[in-house]
Amino acid sequence: MRSGSPDITEQASLAKSQLAAIVEASDDAIITHALNGAIVSWNSGAERMYGYPSGAMIGRPISILVPPGLPDVMPDVLQGIANAQRVERFDTVHTTSTGIEIDVSITASPLRAPSGKVIGVTTIARDVTQRRAVELAPHETERKYRTIFENTREGIFYVTADGETVAANPALVRLLGYDSAEEYIADPDHLLGSWKTSERQELWSRLEGEGEVRDFEMEGRRRDGTKIWVSGTMVVLRDANGSPSTYQGTVLDITGQKRSETLRRRETDEADRANRAKTEFLSRMSHELRTPLTAILGFGQLLQMGRLSSVQQIESVDNILKAGRHLLQLINESVDIAGIEEGRMAFSLEPVRIGDVVKDALDLIGPAAEQRGIEIRLSLDQADRYVKADRQRLVQVFLNLLSNAVKYNKEHGMVTLSCRESKVKGTLTVLVTDTGPGIAPELRDRMFKPFERLGAEKSGVEGTGLGLALSLQLVRAMGGTMALETEMGEGSTFSITLPIVNGPAVQLAESPSGGAAPDGSGPAYPPCTVLYIEDNLANLEVMELVLAYRPGVKLISAMQGRLGFALAKEHHPELVLLDMRLADISGREVLKRLQGHPSTADIPVVILSAEALPGDVDDLLQAGARAYLTKPFHMEVILQLMEELLGGPS
Ligand code: ADP
Repeated sequence: MRSGSPDITEQASLAKSQLAAIVEASDDAIITHALNGAIVSWNSGAERMYGYPSGAMIGRPISILVPPGLPDVMPDVLQGIANAQRVERFDTVHTTSTGIEIDVSITASPLRAPSGKVIGVTTIARDVTQRRAVELAPHETERKYRTIFENTREGIFYVTADGETVAANPALVRLLGYDSAEEYIADPDHLLGSWKTSERQELWSRLEGEGEVRDFEMEGRRRDGTKIWVSGTMVVLRDANGSPSTYQGTVLDITGQKRSETLRRRETDEADRANRAKTEFLSRMSHELRTPLTAILGFGQLLQMGRLSSVQQIESVDNILKAGRHLLQLINESVDIAGIEEGRMAFSLEPVRIGDVVKDALDLIGPAAEQRGIEIRLSLDQADRYVKADRQRLVQVFLNLLSNAVKYNKEHGMVTLSCRESKVKGTLTVLVTDTGPGIAPELRDRMFKPFERLGAEKSGVEGTGLGLALSLQLVRAMGGTMALETEMGEGSTFSITLPIVNGPAVQLAESPSGGAAPDGSGPAYPPCTVLYIEDNLANLEVMELVLAYRPGVKLISAMQGRLGFALAKEHHPELVLLDMRLADISGREVLKRLQGHPSTADIPVVILSAEALPGDVDDLLQAGARAYLTKPFHMEVILQLMEELLGGPS
């Protein structure tokens, strides 16, 4: 009878099939090789790992798993085992049937016959690709981060918890103008240094509180002192316990961006301001125009109804005329202000004798002052000085100031006009002082704004509220300044300061060289008449002086274009000297009229102008002008020209 335990043969067969089952179930590739390298067995693990079915591999060498370019170590392994050497586990790379390279760890052991003789080799290959990747990851990450640190465009730096810089990348070093990171770190004054001091304190507190500060902007200087704006982000890096270990910052240079932002903001602000001013100006202007228009229409309708007495009719017409004049003044002054603001108003800046300008303005204001019993005192010891200005416009400014000094003065008050060399070298100041009520400090700026009358509209004193605004702009446009000093109850002083220039006589003294003496002892010239059409008195005086060097010339002058044309027809001069900027019609129009009239068409015309725009010069020469001379005059050129046009001495 058999016992319950299996016999030896059965046991051996059981062990064999258990072994086969383990081999089949293993995830590792278990491969048996004959000593000549041919594969004898290829388990399911090998099939899964390499993708080759067992049938495709039996009898073939394992070298087909070795990637091209890598040495095949298997022959040496087989050789070693055949020679009873111990072969250590080794790592290598194999290729799968789809060409993917995998990291494998291989253990090789001898396969022996029952006699103990080595008849083959069993290799167990384990796919360690993933494990390798995990092992390599930290190095790889470090390498990647270092590449970024070294090559990024952003400046990167690290500071300790004490705020001390410990590392800086090449971009940051370049950005701030240093030669090396060491040099940057060693400089205690670098832009991003001293994080815990003064103005950066707030940044630091936020960083400690919130763990990061994003997109902060900071202005500072590079190493060479030039200004730089940076935008940056700082984050706290914590150790394993969660305490802050280092702080990492990244910065970008945004200087260019900041500059264009500032420029854009300034332009927008400027445009907004100009727009607001224009809108305000227009709305106030339309309001101001309504008042006189209402009077004109109202009194007009009353007259139309025909029920007014003759006295009332006269009063109504007076009121209409008064409102009409007011309307005209409003329009003229508004147009002037708009003209200056848009750069349309042309100025003829010439040497202007201050005494002459003041006199012109005084002549016009005299009657109004007399009417109110206001005395005007002059203290003009500098009256002979010349300033650079547009004569007509300067008269307009003084007229405004004098008119205010009279209008806003007390009955029988006083206005003083004085003149002194000002503190700013090379400038002259003219002061208009009144004994009026003075101007409250809070109103002093407002009074220079268009249409601001500061309550004067209720007092019955006539005005537009434009005079001071216009005067200020005119003075500025002529390169001067305007100031106000005033004390409540005492009076006000408005002053105007303009650059002093040499008078025309000085200009002339510099130019003549040789030539005939102006005492008539020189050579005899044919007698002739010259007409000079010019609205600037100083220029007329200069011309008189010039012509003293050419005896025999009778100079007649006209300060307006129309009068000039009339005089030309009447006197038929041998030569017309023509200014371009005249009060009534332009010099160009005068030339056209002269050329178009049979009695004046043949008179040579020479243009004398303060500005010679290339297009203008050509145009006027085309239109028939003989020459175009620019001011200030060069005496020799004028005399030479006269010799050509009028003939030389006999
Ligand atoms: P207006 O046409 O009203 O005179 P201005 O622009 O010349 O306009 O002056 C603006 C305002 O400033 C005046 O309405 C007046 O209230 C005040 N003002 C001007 N000049 C004087 C002055 N010399 N004394 C006191 N107030 C003055």
